[in-house]
Amino acid sequence: TYIVTDNCIACKYTDCVEVCPVDCFYEGENFLVIHPDECIDCGVCEPECPADAIRPDTEPDMDKWVEFNRKYAELW
Ligand code: SF4
Repeated sequence: TYIVTDNCIACKYTDCVEVCPVDCFYEGENFLVIHPDECIDCGVCEPECPADAIRPDTEPDMDKWVEFNRKYAELW
């Protein structure tokens, strides 16, 4: 799955949301999250992010970000 990380905070671009084929982005007040269970791991959003905030969860130390994204995706 792909996950939104802290570079997204206060970013105003939503190019990632536009390209996601399964609409698994959720918009909060000043950042976006991806629902990790809904993401199909297609990867098309990653190069669209000008802040380089979207990372695959296979990178090191991503567990806390996966939980953060899940928590907020379920709130919104
Ligand atoms: Fe959506 Fe694909 Fe990005 Fe997952 S990797 S959030 S399915 S665009």
